[in-house]
Amino acid sequence: MGIIVQKYGGTSVATAEKIKNVAQSVIREKNKGNSVIVVVSAMGHTTDYLVKLASEISPSPSNREMDMLLSTGEQVSIALLTMAIQAAGHQAVSMNAMQVGIITENVHSKARILDVKTEKLLQNLNDGKIIVVAGFQGVTPAGEITTLGRGGSDTSAVAIAAAIKADRCDIYTDVEGVYTTDPRIVPNASKLEQVSYDEMLELAYLGANVLHPRAVETAKQFNVPLRVRSTFKPDDLGTLILGVKNMEIYKPVTGVAADSSQARIVVCDVPDKPGVSAKIFSALAAKNISVDMIIQSYARQSNNTNDVAFTVSSDDVEKVLEILEPIAKELQASNVHVNDNIAKVSIVGAGMVDRPGIAADMFKSLADAGINIKMISTSEIKISCLVDKQNAKEAVKRLHEVFELGCGEIAEVKGDLPNF
Ligand code: ADP
Ligand code: ASP
Ligand code: MG
Repeated sequence: MGIIVQKYGGTSVATAEKIKNVAQSVIREKNKGNSVIVVVSAMGHTTDYLVKLASEISPSPSNREMDMLLSTGEQVSIALLTMAIQAAGHQAVSMNAMQVGIITENVHSKARILDVKTEKLLQNLNDGKIIVVAGFQGVTPAGEITTLGRGGSDTSAVAIAAAIKADRCDIYTDVEGVYTTDPRIVPNASKLEQVSYDEMLELAYLGANVLHPRAVETAKQFNVPLRVRSTFKPDDLGTLILGVKNMEIYKPVTGVAADSSQARIVVCDVPDKPGVSAKIFSALAAKNISVDMIIQSYARQSNNTNDVAFTVSSDDVEKVLEILEPIAKELQASNVHVNDNIAKVSIVGAGMVDRPGIAADMFKSLADAGINIKMISTSEIKISCLVDKQNAKEAVKRLHEVFELGCGEIAEVKGDLPNF
């Protein structure tokens, strides 16, 4: 018999009744003869509530105290779920990140996991206990509490599964698997039986928040067999995420994703000479700012200047403007322009490699809908277009249709509508 890691998201543990239901699902896995480690998120919208509470106390709370605050949500769930499992007659123990030894880098609010200690986990499993671990949180080597970024409990689960060499990691959530796009936007989106790590990584990074991107990264790195499945339909096997899909299920486009959490920055009229981009992006990198799409315009003949445009997370805009102020002055830029009324809409598919027609089809379908493309970026298996935020939903619908991703069924959706 094997070791199974299960993860239950916020919607799955939103009420006492749902926690009892999760306890039954955990016990079912244990009764199959498996050792079970369960990772849980905070109940329902607890994390959002705590973020709001902090904003009512301070306009810019420190990241350290935010982590101290947000990590409490998961501790409530682990205690309650453990009580529910115990009440149903099984041995269980809850553990927070410090007790397990989920060691992260010393970065607050989006720390990466460096190591997961397995000693105490194995001890408790050998004692026959079900272990309930707090997702989303970690601890630095110096004992500071960190969090992994919103949605990070998925990553906690996969990292534990990798460290303990689990036979499987099951991510239980409020949809039945990974769909061709967010079923809240396109109700006839199709559930994917299989999706490759690479495609899932792109989809997750590009806004399909059904999985935390770093969870997929870790699963790929350590070859963890990963499933996304429904808490409310435990017999449904959901979607398997794996190294290589079966040959016959490759279509050119596997899925469509949208992300409205970015802002576009344009540094206008900078000199067209070596070192300008290096100066801008080195300064941003030095402060740990991730930059996504980048475009440098063709140099204007009249004054030998061009514009450098790029996107960053909306949360980083203030920090970026601070960093850019002295640089823009030094480069005599005429303006630094910010637009956060944008969304990035992307198509992803391993089957689009070497098929140039796919990009043209994407652009034409957006043009037919009267949607203007502000920036484009591509990789081997994805094409992203930046559009106005109000066009994001329509763009997703059109692309889903043009690449024939829909099915006859209507997905059952329990979460709130995405906020584009
Ligand atoms: P949890 O709280 O269980 O972690 P999340 O809200 O983080 O759940 O993720 C599940 C949600 O992700 C679904 O309710 C769904 O609306 C959304 N979602 C976005 N893109 C996709 C997709 N491609 N496939 C499935 N779900 C998606
Ligand atoms: N509770 C955290 C969040 O809401 C982590 C998670 O749910 O994965 O982002
Ligand atoms: Mg999630």
